[in-house]
Amino acid sequence: MKQFEVPVYYRSPIIGKVKDTRKITDPRKKDFTPTVLDFGPVQFLIPRHFGFCYGVENAIEISYRALEENPGKRIFLLSQMIHNPEVNADLRQRGIRFIMDTEGNQFTEWDELTPDDIVVIPAFGTTVEIQRLLEAKGIETQKYNTTCPFVEKVWKRSAKLGEDDFSVIIHGKHKHEETRATFSHSYQGAPSVVIKDMEEAKVLADVIRGSISHADFYKIFEGKYSEGFDPVHDLERVGVVNQTTMLAGETQAIADFFKNVMEEVHGTADLKNRYADTRDTLCYATNDNQQATYGVLEEPADLALVIGGYNSSNTSHIAELCEEKLPTYFIQNELEITGPSLIRHFNYPKQKMEETRDWLTLPGKSDSPLRIVLTSGASCPDATVDRVMQKVLSYFEEVRSPEEVLEDCLGKED
Ligand code: SF4
Repeated sequence: MKQFEVPVYYRSPIIGKVKDTRKITDPRKKDFTPTVLDFGPVQFLIPRHFGFCYGVENAIEISYRALEENPGKRIFLLSQMIHNPEVNADLRQRGIRFIMDTEGNQFTEWDELTPDDIVVIPAFGTTVEIQRLLEAKGIETQKYNTTCPFVEKVWKRSAKLGEDDFSVIIHGKHKHEETRATFSHSYQGAPSVVIKDMEEAKVLADVIRGSISHADFYKIFEGKYSEGFDPVHDLERVGVVNQTTMLAGETQAIADFFKNVMEEVHGTADLKNRYADTRDTLCYATNDNQQATYGVLEEPADLALVIGGYNSSNTSHIAELCEEKLPTYFIQNELEITGPSLIRHFNYPKQKMEETRDWLTLPGKSDSPLRIVLTSGASCPDATVDRVMQKVLSYFEEVRSPEEVLEDCLGKED
Protein backbone atom coordinates (compact mmCIF):
# COMPACT_ATOMS: atom_id res chain seq x y z
CA MET A 1 0.00 0.00 0.00
CA LYS A 2 1.14 3.56 -0.75
CA GLN A 3 3.29 5.23 1.92
CA PHE A 4 2.18 8.74 2.84
CA GLU A 5 4.12 11.69 4.18
CA VAL A 6 2.56 12.33 7.54
CA PRO A 7 4.16 14.76 10.04
CA VAL A 8 6.55 12.84 12.22
CA TYR A 9 4.86 14.00 15.43
CA TYR A 10 1.85 11.82 14.59
CA ARG A 11 4.03 8.71 14.46
CA SER A 12 5.04 6.81 17.56
CA PRO A 13 8.06 4.87 18.76
CA ILE A 14 6.11 2.12 20.54
CA ILE A 15 2.86 1.50 18.64
CA GLY A 16 4.57 2.26 15.32
CA LYS A 17 7.15 -0.44 16.01
CA VAL A 18 4.45 -2.97 16.87
CA LYS A 19 2.57 -2.19 13.66
CA ASP A 20 5.68 -2.28 11.47
CA THR A 21 6.64 -5.68 12.85
CA ARG A 22 3.15 -7.11 12.38
CA LYS A 23 3.12 -5.85 8.78
CA ILE A 24 6.30 -7.84 8.13
CA THR A 25 5.28 -11.02 9.93
CA ASP A 26 1.66 -11.01 8.71
CA PRO A 27 1.54 -9.03 5.45
CA ARG A 28 -1.83 -10.45 4.37
CA LYS A 29 -3.49 -9.80 7.73
CA LYS A 30 -4.45 -13.37 8.35
CA ASP A 31 -3.71 -13.33 12.05
CA PHE A 32 -6.05 -11.17 14.11
CA THR A 33 -4.62 -12.11 17.50
CA PRO A 34 -3.29 -9.08 19.39
CA THR A 35 0.29 -8.26 20.30
CA VAL A 36 0.78 -8.32 24.06
CA LEU A 37 3.15 -5.70 25.47
CA ASP A 38 4.12 -7.02 28.88
CA PHE A 39 5.35 -4.22 31.14
CA GLY A 40 5.25 -6.42 34.26
CA PRO A 41 2.38 -5.25 36.48
CA VAL A 42 0.39 -4.20 33.42
CA GLN A 43 0.01 -5.72 29.98
CA PHE A 44 -1.38 -3.90 26.94
CA LEU A 45 -3.21 -5.91 24.31
CA ILE A 46 -2.63 -4.21 20.97
CA PRO A 47 -5.04 -5.26 18.18
CA ARG A 48 -3.68 -6.36 14.81
CA HIS A 49 -5.16 -3.33 13.01
CA PHE A 50 -6.23 0.14 14.16
CA GLY A 51 -5.35 3.81 13.81
CA PHE A 52 -4.66 5.91 10.71
CA CYS A 53 -6.16 4.38 7.58
CA TYR A 54 -5.35 4.99 3.91
CA GLY A 55 -7.95 7.75 3.56
CA VAL A 56 -6.82 9.61 6.67
CA GLU A 57 -3.11 9.50 5.79
CA ASN A 58 -3.96 10.63 2.26
CA ALA A 59 -6.02 13.55 3.64
CA ILE A 60 -3.28 14.56 6.08
CA GLU A 61 -0.60 14.46 3.39
CA ILE A 62 -2.67 16.60 0.99
CA SER A 63 -3.67 19.14 3.66
CA TYR A 64 -0.11 19.74 4.85
CA ARG A 65 1.00 19.95 1.21
CA ALA A 66 -1.66 22.61 0.60
CA LEU A 67 -0.10 24.62 3.44
CA GLU A 68 3.41 24.16 2.10
CA GLU A 69 2.55 25.03 -1.51
CA ASN A 70 0.48 28.14 -0.78
CA PRO A 71 2.30 30.49 1.57
CA GLY A 72 0.41 33.76 1.97
CA LYS A 73 -2.84 32.39 0.58
CA ARG A 74 -6.00 31.82 2.54
CA ILE A 75 -6.53 28.09 2.96
CA PHE A 76 -9.88 26.70 4.02
CA LEU A 77 -11.03 23.26 5.01
CA LEU A 78 -14.66 22.62 4.15
CA SER A 79 -15.13 21.11 7.59
CA GLN A 80 -13.02 18.99 9.92
CA MET A 81 -10.61 17.18 7.65
CA ILE A 82 -10.95 14.03 9.73
CA HIS A 83 -12.63 13.45 13.06
CA ASN A 84 -9.64 13.99 15.28
CA PRO A 85 -9.35 17.06 17.50
CA GLU A 86 -5.54 17.10 17.63
CA VAL A 87 -5.04 16.92 13.87
CA ASN A 88 -7.66 19.60 13.29
CA ALA A 89 -6.19 21.84 16.01
CA ASP A 90 -2.72 21.50 14.50
CA LEU A 91 -4.00 22.49 11.05
CA ARG A 92 -5.86 25.44 12.55
CA GLN A 93 -2.79 26.57 14.38
CA ARG A 94 -0.86 26.53 11.09
CA GLY A 95 -3.40 28.89 9.58
CA ILE A 96 -6.02 26.66 7.99
CA ARG A 97 -9.56 27.94 8.55
CA PHE A 98 -12.74 25.91 8.69
CA ILE A 99 -15.72 26.86 6.54
CA MET A 100 -18.21 24.90 8.64
CA ASP A 101 -18.45 22.51 11.55
CA THR A 102 -19.37 18.84 11.32
CA GLU A 103 -23.09 19.60 11.57
CA GLY A 104 -22.92 21.95 8.60
CA ASN A 105 -23.07 25.21 10.65
CA GLN A 106 -21.21 27.88 8.74
CA PHE A 107 -18.16 29.73 10.17
CA THR A 108 -17.22 31.43 6.89
CA GLU A 109 -19.92 32.70 4.54
CA TRP A 110 -19.66 31.43 0.96
CA ASP A 111 -19.67 35.07 -0.21
CA GLU A 112 -16.36 35.65 1.56
CA LEU A 113 -14.55 33.14 -0.65
CA THR A 114 -12.63 34.33 -3.72
CA PRO A 115 -11.09 32.43 -6.66
CA ASP A 116 -7.67 32.99 -5.05
CA ASP A 117 -8.58 30.94 -1.99
CA ILE A 118 -7.56 27.35 -1.55
CA VAL A 119 -10.28 24.97 -0.38
CA VAL A 120 -9.42 21.48 0.85
CA ILE A 121 -12.19 18.87 0.53
CA PRO A 122 -12.12 16.51 3.52
CA ALA A 123 -11.70 12.72 3.51
CA PHE A 124 -15.47 12.22 3.81
CA GLY A 125 -15.98 14.10 0.54
CA THR A 126 -18.63 16.75 0.05
CA THR A 127 -22.04 17.23 -1.48
CA VAL A 128 -22.52 17.85 -5.18
CA GLU A 129 -24.20 21.16 -4.30
CA ILE A 130 -21.18 22.47 -2.36
CA GLN A 131 -18.78 21.29 -5.04
CA ARG A 132 -20.79 23.16 -7.70
CA LEU A 133 -21.00 26.25 -5.52
CA LEU A 134 -17.20 26.32 -5.11
CA GLU A 135 -16.64 25.78 -8.80
CA ALA A 136 -19.08 28.57 -9.64
CA LYS A 137 -16.88 30.85 -7.53
CA GLY A 138 -13.87 29.89 -9.62
CA ILE A 139 -12.29 27.82 -6.86
CA GLU A 140 -10.23 24.84 -7.96
CA THR A 141 -11.77 21.85 -6.13
CA GLN A 142 -9.72 18.96 -7.47
CA LYS A 143 -6.19 20.05 -6.56
CA TYR A 144 -6.65 19.51 -2.84
CA ASN A 145 -9.52 17.08 -2.87
CA THR A 146 -8.82 14.50 -0.15
CA THR A 147 -12.03 12.48 -0.64
CA CYS A 148 -11.16 8.91 0.24
CA PRO A 149 -11.31 6.50 -2.71
CA PHE A 150 -13.33 4.10 -0.56
CA VAL A 151 -16.02 6.77 -0.13
CA GLU A 152 -15.98 7.40 -3.88
CA LYS A 153 -16.47 3.68 -4.40
CA VAL A 154 -19.79 3.95 -2.53
CA TRP A 155 -20.81 6.89 -4.74
CA LYS A 156 -20.06 4.79 -7.83
CA ARG A 157 -22.08 1.91 -6.42
CA SER A 158 -25.05 4.24 -5.83
CA ALA A 159 -24.73 5.68 -9.34
CA LYS A 160 -24.80 2.16 -10.77
CA LEU A 161 -27.94 1.36 -8.77
CA GLY A 162 -29.54 4.49 -10.19
CA GLU A 163 -28.56 3.56 -13.77
CA ASP A 164 -30.19 0.18 -13.25
CA ASP A 165 -33.35 1.88 -12.03
CA PHE A 166 -33.03 0.89 -8.37
CA SER A 167 -33.59 3.23 -5.44
CA VAL A 168 -30.82 3.53 -2.87
CA ILE A 169 -31.19 2.80 0.83
CA ILE A 170 -28.17 4.28 2.64
CA HIS A 171 -27.25 2.74 5.99
CA GLY A 172 -25.59 5.66 7.77
CA LYS A 173 -25.93 8.52 10.23
CA HIS A 174 -27.77 11.15 8.23
CA LYS A 175 -25.97 14.10 9.87
CA HIS A 176 -22.49 12.66 9.37
CA GLU A 177 -20.53 14.50 6.64
CA GLU A 178 -19.83 11.31 4.74
CA THR A 179 -23.48 10.27 4.68
CA ARG A 180 -24.56 13.79 3.69
CA ALA A 181 -22.08 13.61 0.80
CA THR A 182 -23.11 10.08 -0.19
CA PHE A 183 -26.80 11.00 -0.02
CA SER A 184 -26.20 14.01 -2.26
CA HIS A 185 -24.24 11.99 -4.83
CA SER A 186 -26.78 9.19 -4.68
CA TYR A 187 -29.89 11.28 -5.31
CA GLN A 188 -28.40 12.79 -8.46
CA GLY A 189 -29.21 9.46 -10.13
CA ALA A 190 -31.58 7.56 -7.87
CA PRO A 191 -34.33 8.16 -5.33
CA SER A 192 -32.53 7.78 -2.00
CA VAL A 193 -33.35 7.38 1.67
CA VAL A 194 -31.10 7.18 4.74
CA ILE A 195 -31.70 4.76 7.62
CA LYS A 196 -29.51 4.70 10.70
CA ASP A 197 -30.10 1.20 12.08
CA MET A 198 -32.16 -1.95 12.05
CA GLU A 199 -34.97 -0.23 13.91
CA GLU A 200 -35.39 2.28 11.06
CA ALA A 201 -34.95 -0.54 8.53
CA LYS A 202 -37.97 -2.26 10.08
CA VAL A 203 -40.04 0.91 9.84
CA LEU A 204 -39.08 1.30 6.16
CA ALA A 205 -39.98 -2.36 5.60
CA ASP A 206 -43.45 -1.63 6.94
CA VAL A 207 -43.74 1.19 4.40
CA ILE A 208 -42.78 -1.34 1.68
CA ARG A 209 -45.38 -3.80 3.00
CA GLY A 210 -47.98 -1.04 3.06
CA SER A 211 -48.60 -1.26 6.80
CA ILE A 212 -47.29 2.27 7.40
CA SER A 213 -48.97 5.00 5.43
CA HIS A 214 -47.06 7.12 2.99
CA ALA A 215 -47.98 10.23 4.93
CA ASP A 216 -46.29 8.67 7.96
CA PHE A 217 -43.23 7.82 5.86
CA TYR A 218 -42.74 11.51 5.14
CA LYS A 219 -43.04 12.35 8.83
CA ILE A 220 -40.79 9.56 10.13
CA PHE A 221 -38.06 10.03 7.56
CA GLU A 222 -38.18 13.81 7.37
CA GLY A 223 -34.87 15.19 6.11
CA LYS A 224 -33.70 11.68 5.18
CA TYR A 225 -35.23 11.14 1.73
CA SER A 226 -34.47 12.77 -1.59
CA GLU A 227 -36.71 15.43 -3.09
CA GLY A 228 -39.72 13.97 -4.84
CA PHE A 229 -39.29 10.56 -3.19
CA ASP A 230 -42.43 8.55 -3.82
CA PRO A 231 -42.80 5.71 -1.32
CA VAL A 232 -45.24 3.88 -3.63
CA HIS A 233 -43.06 3.75 -6.70
CA ASP A 234 -39.56 4.32 -5.27
CA LEU A 235 -39.52 1.36 -2.89
CA GLU A 236 -40.39 -1.23 -5.54
CA ARG A 237 -36.75 -1.84 -6.52
CA VAL A 238 -34.04 -1.22 -3.92
CA GLY A 239 -30.35 -1.70 -3.18
CA VAL A 240 -28.41 -0.98 0.02
CA VAL A 241 -25.13 0.94 0.40
CA ASN A 242 -23.57 2.19 3.61
CA GLN A 243 -21.49 4.84 5.29
CA THR A 244 -18.06 3.23 5.16
CA THR A 245 -17.62 3.19 8.93
CA MET A 246 -20.79 1.47 10.12
CA LEU A 247 -20.72 -1.84 11.96
CA ALA A 248 -20.13 -4.56 9.35
CA GLY A 249 -22.49 -7.01 11.03
CA GLU A 250 -25.29 -4.46 11.20
CA THR A 251 -25.00 -3.49 7.53
CA GLN A 252 -25.01 -7.12 6.50
CA ALA A 253 -28.06 -7.81 8.67
CA ILE A 254 -29.87 -4.79 7.17
CA ALA A 255 -29.04 -5.83 3.59
CA ASP A 256 -30.24 -9.41 4.26
CA PHE A 257 -33.34 -8.04 5.93
CA PHE A 258 -34.36 -5.96 2.89
CA LYS A 259 -33.66 -8.90 0.60
CA ASN A 260 -36.12 -10.98 2.66
CA VAL A 261 -38.68 -8.19 2.73
CA MET A 262 -38.58 -7.79 -1.06
CA GLU A 263 -38.91 -11.56 -1.46
CA GLU A 264 -41.85 -11.62 0.95
CA VAL A 265 -43.64 -8.78 -0.85
CA HIS A 266 -42.82 -9.62 -4.49
CA GLY A 267 -42.08 -13.36 -4.43
CA THR A 268 -38.90 -15.34 -5.01
CA ALA A 269 -39.22 -15.45 -8.78
CA ASP A 270 -39.09 -11.65 -9.03
CA LEU A 271 -36.39 -11.09 -6.39
CA LYS A 272 -33.55 -10.25 -8.80
CA ASN A 273 -35.70 -7.58 -10.32
CA ARG A 274 -36.59 -6.11 -6.92
CA TYR A 275 -33.42 -6.28 -4.88
CA ALA A 276 -29.90 -5.39 -6.04
CA ASP A 277 -27.27 -7.41 -4.25
CA THR A 278 -24.57 -4.77 -3.76
CA ARG A 279 -22.59 -6.53 -1.00
CA ASP A 280 -21.54 -4.19 1.72
CA THR A 281 -19.61 -1.02 0.99
CA LEU A 282 -17.58 -0.86 4.19
CA CYS A 283 -13.95 0.12 3.59
CA TYR A 284 -11.01 -2.21 4.23
CA ALA A 285 -9.94 -0.23 7.32
CA THR A 286 -13.34 -0.49 8.99
CA ASN A 287 -13.43 -4.20 8.23
CA ASP A 288 -9.92 -4.82 9.51
CA ASN A 289 -10.40 -2.66 12.61
CA GLN A 290 -13.61 -4.44 13.52
CA GLN A 291 -12.11 -7.87 12.90
CA ALA A 292 -9.03 -6.95 14.94
CA THR A 293 -11.33 -5.78 17.74
CA TYR A 294 -13.14 -9.13 17.73
CA GLY A 295 -9.68 -10.75 17.77
CA VAL A 296 -8.43 -8.83 20.79
CA LEU A 297 -11.69 -9.41 22.66
CA GLU A 298 -11.14 -13.15 22.52
CA GLU A 299 -8.27 -12.68 24.98
CA PRO A 300 -8.92 -12.26 28.70
CA ALA A 301 -8.67 -8.60 29.73
CA ASP A 302 -9.73 -6.28 32.54
CA LEU A 303 -10.71 -3.14 30.64
CA ALA A 304 -10.45 -1.35 27.31
CA LEU A 305 -9.25 2.13 26.39
CA VAL A 306 -10.54 3.27 23.00
CA ILE A 307 -9.02 6.50 21.73
CA GLY A 308 -10.45 8.86 19.13
CA GLY A 309 -12.45 11.99 18.40
CA TYR A 310 -15.86 12.04 20.02
CA ASN A 311 -17.50 12.65 16.65
CA SER A 312 -15.69 9.71 15.06
CA SER A 313 -18.17 7.12 13.86
CA ASN A 314 -15.67 4.30 13.39
CA THR A 315 -14.18 4.85 16.87
CA SER A 316 -17.65 4.74 18.41
CA HIS A 317 -18.24 1.33 16.81
CA ILE A 318 -14.97 -0.05 18.20
CA ALA A 319 -16.01 1.23 21.64
CA GLU A 320 -19.44 -0.38 21.17
CA LEU A 321 -17.83 -3.77 20.44
CA CYS A 322 -15.51 -3.50 23.46
CA GLU A 323 -18.37 -2.47 25.76
CA GLU A 324 -20.13 -5.73 25.06
CA LYS A 325 -17.34 -7.50 26.88
CA LEU A 326 -15.30 -5.15 29.05
CA PRO A 327 -15.49 -1.94 31.08
CA THR A 328 -14.62 0.46 28.23
CA TYR A 329 -13.47 4.07 28.28
CA PHE A 330 -13.76 6.08 25.04
CA ILE A 331 -11.29 8.97 25.46
CA GLN A 332 -9.86 11.50 23.02
CA ASN A 333 -6.39 11.59 24.54
CA GLU A 334 -4.32 11.16 27.73
CA LEU A 335 -5.65 14.41 29.19
CA GLU A 336 -8.92 12.66 30.03
CA ILE A 337 -7.02 10.55 32.57
CA THR A 338 -6.52 12.43 35.83
CA GLY A 339 -5.11 9.49 37.75
CA PRO A 340 -5.98 5.91 38.71
CA SER A 341 -8.92 7.29 40.60
CA LEU A 342 -10.55 9.33 37.82
CA ILE A 343 -11.12 9.13 34.08
CA ARG A 344 -13.38 11.30 31.92
CA HIS A 345 -14.83 9.48 28.95
CA PHE A 346 -17.48 9.85 26.30
CA ASN A 347 -20.78 8.04 26.24
CA TYR A 348 -21.42 7.98 22.49
CA PRO A 349 -25.03 6.74 22.50
CA LYS A 350 -25.97 9.43 25.02
CA GLN A 351 -23.59 11.96 23.42
CA LYS A 352 -22.24 13.17 26.74
CA MET A 353 -19.12 13.10 28.87
CA GLU A 354 -19.07 10.93 31.97
CA GLU A 355 -16.62 10.40 34.82
CA THR A 356 -15.66 7.09 36.38
CA ARG A 357 -13.88 6.91 39.71
CA ASP A 358 -11.37 4.20 40.65
CA TRP A 359 -11.31 2.94 37.09
CA LEU A 360 -7.78 1.55 37.37
CA THR A 361 -7.11 -1.03 40.07
CA LEU A 362 -3.40 -1.28 40.61
CA PRO A 363 -2.45 -4.91 41.26
CA GLY A 364 -0.62 -5.87 44.46
CA LYS A 365 2.74 -7.64 44.27
CA SER A 366 1.28 -11.13 44.22
CA ASP A 367 -1.62 -10.34 41.90
CA SER A 368 -1.59 -11.20 38.22
CA PRO A 369 -0.93 -8.26 35.88
CA LEU A 370 -3.71 -5.93 34.82
CA ARG A 371 -4.60 -6.50 31.16
CA ILE A 372 -5.73 -3.49 29.14
CA VAL A 373 -7.00 -3.53 25.58
CA LEU A 374 -5.57 -0.41 23.94
CA THR A 375 -6.89 0.69 20.59
CA SER A 376 -8.00 3.71 18.56
CA GLY A 377 -10.13 4.85 15.64
CA ALA A 378 -9.01 5.38 12.05
CA SER A 379 -8.35 9.10 12.55
CA CYS A 380 -6.27 8.87 15.73
CA PRO A 381 -2.49 9.37 15.53
CA ASP A 382 -0.39 6.53 16.99
CA ALA A 383 1.48 9.18 19.00
CA THR A 384 -1.71 9.80 21.01
CA VAL A 385 -2.03 6.08 21.75
CA ASP A 386 1.58 6.07 22.97
CA ARG A 387 0.90 8.99 25.28
CA VAL A 388 -2.13 7.26 26.80
CA MET A 389 -0.04 4.16 27.36
CA GLN A 390 2.76 6.16 28.99
CA LYS A 391 0.30 7.95 31.24
CA VAL A 392 -1.22 4.67 32.43
CA LEU A 393 2.24 3.20 32.96
CA SER A 394 3.19 6.17 35.13
CA TYR A 395 0.79 4.87 37.83
CA PHE A 396 2.55 1.52 38.17
CA GLU A 397 5.75 0.72 40.00
CA GLU A 398 8.59 -1.37 38.67
CA VAL A 399 7.48 -1.33 35.05
CA ARG A 400 9.84 -2.62 32.39
CA SER A 401 11.17 -0.12 29.86
CA PRO A 402 9.47 0.11 26.44
CA GLU A 403 12.75 -0.90 24.75
CA GLU A 404 12.97 -4.06 26.83
CA VAL A 405 9.29 -4.89 26.26
CA LEU A 406 9.50 -4.34 22.51
CA GLU A 407 12.69 -6.31 22.22
CA ASP A 408 11.22 -9.16 24.19
CA CYS A 409 7.87 -9.25 22.41
CA LEU A 410 8.72 -8.29 18.85
CA GLY A 411 12.00 -10.18 18.86
CA LYS A 412 9.87 -13.31 19.14
CA GLU A 413 7.80 -12.28 16.09
CA ASP A 414 10.81 -11.52 13.85
S1 SF4 B 1 -12.21 4.87 7.34
FE1 SF4 B 1 -12.16 3.96 5.26
S2 SF4 B 1 -13.46 5.28 4.03
FE2 SF4 B 1 -12.98 6.43 5.89
S3 SF4 B 1 -11.16 7.60 5.35
FE3 SF4 B 1 -10.44 5.67 6.23
S4 SF4 B 1 -10.08 4.29 4.49
FE4 SF4 B 1 -11.39 5.99 3.79
